[in-house]
This record gives sequence, structure tokens and C-alpha cells, in this order.
Amino acid sequence: ATPTALLVGTGRGAQLGILIKGPEVLESTRTVDTVVLDKTGTVTTGRMALVDVVALVDVVAGGGGGAAGSAGPEGAARAGILRLAGALEHASEHPIAQAIARAAVAETGELPGVESFQSIPGKGVSGVVDGRAVLVGREELLDDWALTLPIELADAKTAAEASGRTAVLVAWDGEVRGLLVVADQVKPTSRAAITQLRALGLAPVLLTGDNAAVARTIADEVGITQVTAEVLPQDKVAAIKALQSEGRVVAMVGDGVNDAAALAQADLGLAMGTGTDAAIEASDITLVGGDLRSAADAIRLSRSTLGTIK
Ligand code: ADP
Ligand code: MG
Repeated sequence: ATPTALLVGTGRGAQLGILIKGPEVLESTRTVDTVVLDKTGTVTTGRMALVDVVALVDVVAGGGGGAAGSAGPEGAARAGILRLAGALEHASEHPIAQAIARAAVAETGELPGVESFQSIPGKGVSGVVDGRAVLVGREELLDDWALTLPIELADAKTAAEASGRTAVLVAWDGEVRGLLVVADQVKPTSRAAITQLRALGLAPVLLTGDNAAVARTIADEVGITQVTAEVLPQDKVAAIKALQSEGRVVAMVGDGVNDAAALAQADLGLAMGTGTDAAIEASDITLVGGDLRSAADAIRLSRSTLGTIK
């Protein structure tokens, strides 16, 4: 395509809410055949909500689950878990953390302060709250601290994940005490976007740090067959490289700080405009409105600009 055509293409993109870093980006879309999609914040809204709190003492006593905030004697153990976990998560920017902190403030009021806060990307958080050494995160985080998951909580976790929810564990002073269940929602336009990407000849792949059961549920909901789950943030780059070494030309769509390196590694990086600055800076294209259908629009626009299709 002529320089003029490329400029017209980028201008047309801007009108559609597709910000293209430079005219040369359009050329790089020509041979893309695979589109890797981050889950949280890209395929899903990333606006998580706390839907359940399971306290080990209640489950062992035969109490069962129940909604967060319910009254009665079981409420006390749950409130304790929510208070300590909420205090810790208040210091984290992760969507799961924000859902937990928000619910904790709403249910227990002002949260205690945190000392020695640490974020372990892709795993969770740790810190000292009210003199207790608290951990909130996935099972691998507990493994790192040589803590074992009681069978009752393992069962509750499996049940939550089977329904497509994300379960994070709460431990303090060497014991796993409970489970917080958060739910995210697929964006209403994600399924249509996947259909459009397929129609353009692109193979969609879901890439996430979340567990395989949750990833599978979300993938099924939007019509993705290929799923790579439980990928640590630093391993997302390797996942892109692995596809490239199979000879695939890879576009990646992401939103998080943890996606930035993978977006840069991809042949074409597309950031959700609703996402982090790190993702936007690492990408070739920004999808201003955060609608996944814009990824298909971007590919279509490039192709028409390049004269591949009319
Ligand atoms: P994604 O790739 O879907 O955006 P991440 O790589 O950020 O997800 O996180 C992977 C998993 O690590 C989460 O599903 C969660 O189980 C755990 N995790 C990460 N950060 C936190 C946190 N602040 N609190 C609790 N769990 C966390
Ligand atoms: Mg994300």
C-alpha cells in the first residue's frame, strides 16, 4: 500500500476507536493467523465481585457455605477472614484484590493497616495484619509457604471452580483458614468478537494465569477451543514464543501489567484502552473502548487498507 493509503487507514482507525502507533503497524497485520487473548479484563470485564466466603471452622462444623455477609454464629468466622484478607488486598491493584477489599470494607467497616506487604505476581499477596502473617492467593502460593489445603476447603474450591468462578485461599499463622470466591463476567460482546476473528481466519487462543477449570468455562462460553491456563506472568512471553516457533504469526490482545511483555513479543500487540498504561505502551494498537470486537475491526481495517480485501 502507498504511504497515503496507510495514513488514511490509521485515520479511519482513529475514528473507529482503534489507535494505531504508526502506519507500518498495518503492514505487520498482513500475515497474522493466531490471536492470543488474555482472559481477565480482556475477554471478561475484570470487574470481579465477591460471591462467597467459606470459613474452614464452619465447614468442619457442618455449616456449609452461604452468602457473604449472612448473620448468625457462622458470620463471625467469615467476617474475620474477610477483614484480614481485605486489609491485605486493599494494597493490591489486582481485580480480585479490589473485589475482596471492597466487600471487606462494606461488611466489616474500616480495615486494619498492613506491614511488610508483598505482591507475588500471578499468585497472590502476603503481609502482616494485626500481628498475623497473612497470605491470600492461589494454591501454589500456599505451596511456597509449605502450607497444605484442608480437604474440606479443597472440595469447596473444586466446586467453585467447576462453576467457572475463581477461588482464592486465605491463610494466617501457618494455617489455611478459608476460601474467598470471586466471579468475573464475560463481556457481552466477547462471543461475537471470537466469531468475527474466526471468520477472518484467525485461530483464537485463551491465555491466562487463572486455573484450568475457570479458563475452560470462560473459553466454552465465548467459543474458544485452545486454552493455555495457569501461566505465570513471566511465562506469558514464552507462551507467545512457543506459538511463533510453530510458525504461527501471533496477535495478542491484553490489558494487564502482566501482559505487557507478551504484547511486545507478539507480532502484533493490541491493548485494551480500559487497561493499564504498561499494556498500552507495549502494544502496536490500542482498542479505546475495550470492546473485543474492535480487535476484529482492526484486522479488517488493515486488510482493506493494504488492499487485501475491499
Ligand atoms: P490473568 O492472567 O487471568 O489476568 P493473573 O496472572 O493476574 O490472572 O493471576 C493469576 C491467578 O493468581 C489469579 O487467578 C489468582 O488466583 C491469583 N492471584 C493473583 N493476584 C492475586 C491477588 N492480589 N489476590 C489473590 N489472588 C491473586
Ligand atoms: Mg488481564
